[in-house]
Amino acid sequence: MTLHGQSIIAGKTVDSTGEAFTATNPATGKSLEPVFHESPVDQADAALKAADAAFDEFRAKSPEERASFLEAIADGIDALGDALLKRANEETGLPMVRVTGERGRTTSQARLFAKLVREGTWLEARIDKAIPDRAPLPKPDVRRMMVPVGPVVVFGASNFPLAISVAGTDTVSALGAGCPVVVKAHPGHPGTSEMIGRVITEAAEKTGMPAGVFSMVQGKGSEIGMALVKHPLTAAVAFTGSLKGGRALFDAAASRPNPISFYGELGSVNPVFLLPGALQQRAPQIAEAFVTSLTMGVGQFCTNPGLVFGVQSDELKQFMEKTSSLIKGWQPASMLHAGISNSFDTGVARVIATPGVDLVARSQTPASKEASQATAALFSTDTAGFESQASLREEIFGPSSVVTHVGSKEELERIAESFDGQLTASIHGTEDDLREHARLVRILERKAGRIIFNGFGTGIEVCPSMHHGGPYPSSTHSHFTSIGTAAIYRFVRPVCYQGFPDDCLPAAIQNKNVTGAWRMVDGEMTKGDA
Ligand code: NAP
Repeated sequence: MTLHGQSIIAGKTVDSTGEAFTATNPATGKSLEPVFHESPVDQADAALKAADAAFDEFRAKSPEERASFLEAIADGIDALGDALLKRANEETGLPMVRVTGERGRTTSQARLFAKLVREGTWLEARIDKAIPDRAPLPKPDVRRMMVPVGPVVVFGASNFPLAISVAGTDTVSALGAGCPVVVKAHPGHPGTSEMIGRVITEAAEKTGMPAGVFSMVQGKGSEIGMALVKHPLTAAVAFTGSLKGGRALFDAAASRPNPISFYGELGSVNPVFLLPGALQQRAPQIAEAFVTSLTMGVGQFCTNPGLVFGVQSDELKQFMEKTSSLIKGWQPASMLHAGISNSFDTGVARVIATPGVDLVARSQTPASKEASQATAALFSTDTAGFESQASLREEIFGPSSVVTHVGSKEELERIAESFDGQLTASIHGTEDDLREHARLVRILERKAGRIIFNGFGTGIEVCPSMHHGGPYPSSTHSHFTSIGTAAIYRFVRPVCYQGFPDDCLPAAIQNKNVTGAWRMVDGEMTKGDA
């Protein structure tokens, strides 16, 4: 596929006249062909008008038709073959093995959403039949189901160029729900974005979807993204990225004359608690798993374990020794782009300069700045050091972590209580440890969206029970997930129909259960007719 470097509006390639930019290979520092152009603000307007015009036709498509559209997207991504992997690797520096795995996740989650849409239980149909002779008042016929909210704006993430980008969970869950999508491509991987954007456009054509169901604008700078969020026809926004950018866009969404939902995935330090029994049994093994998680994807995951806590003991020392030796031996690797690499260096320098914090280990091989590389870093402190330095709670995006040696179980709980919202929290312990630290679990339930026992937050499973989203600032709406099939609920809202004749109701809540999905009829879950 020869890249054109332009935006895609409602199935057509549209020349963009804005500022020119290119993708850069972070591993070589070299620019990649072609030249892309920032989309002007009137393209945001054109994309959202087309999305709005397509909305009624698109949401009227049957579950089978929408599912086929999602499957055609997955098939189209597979058909791009190695060219897609090569481009994603060049634009992000992520190794081929990683982008190959990510492509598998992207296509399998599109197919998973297709299955969800076909099955239909996600519509949450509820039917309460009328009781006309109820005394003292008759009961009306009341039915409720989920309907799509309208055009959704999606911001692709830099660290998952496939799985959380143009055809990532945000896009496929919104399309599955029946919402047209306008993507703001991430400027870190514009070519990968164009390839996927063209696949979605072709899939829409092939499966008979209205053209405005998908558009994608390119941009490097805040103007086009802001225009999309503020556009009066935008019904909801999905975003994965920095706290700073996410908060600016969230505030813009909230301060519109008609505020809209902004689902921002903003980041987290993902505290890890090492309990005594587990350290006694397997300190070196936990250290190995920790370093694998910390350095995976060069630490560029929002679930990266940035802070670790354990009660002082010989076993905690053993954990530190093993972790230090692994960190020293870790080979520097390229980060997504020079900006992220510079932010990482600034963050690490800030921790080095923090009073009461010791640098325990760094990769012994020096990093190449030309190749935007990061070296892994391990720090330690004690409770007083951690509690006196608020900056230690800030996310450092990359392979760096601080281990706090606490004096007691009570200190561990006090620290847990002091945390802001987190995407994940991990506890390493024996089952006895877990029973003994039941209060820690209760505290973490108030802080995190996912609590992991004897594991780490990285390597997230895409499945119906996954929850990826915690209290602010880890995400802007902790009730909703951006990963897993429950992500579809961000883009629907309930509508209640009262007193309607059966044949004028949407098919999902008519008396005959045509889809065979689970529905609640008169308070009982059933697959039968009402
Ligand atoms: P980012 O700077 O927040 O950018 C994400 C997207 O939002 C880009 O398309 C960006 O467009 C747009 N954007 C950002 N601020 C904006 C604003 N004020 N107005 C309008 N649009 C705006 O995130 P990033 O480039 O992916 O990485 C930078 C940092 O984000 C990392 O260092 C890391 O801390 C964090 N991050 C977190 C996660 C996570 O999973 N939570 C993932 C990746 C990165 P432009 O670039 O065109 O302005």
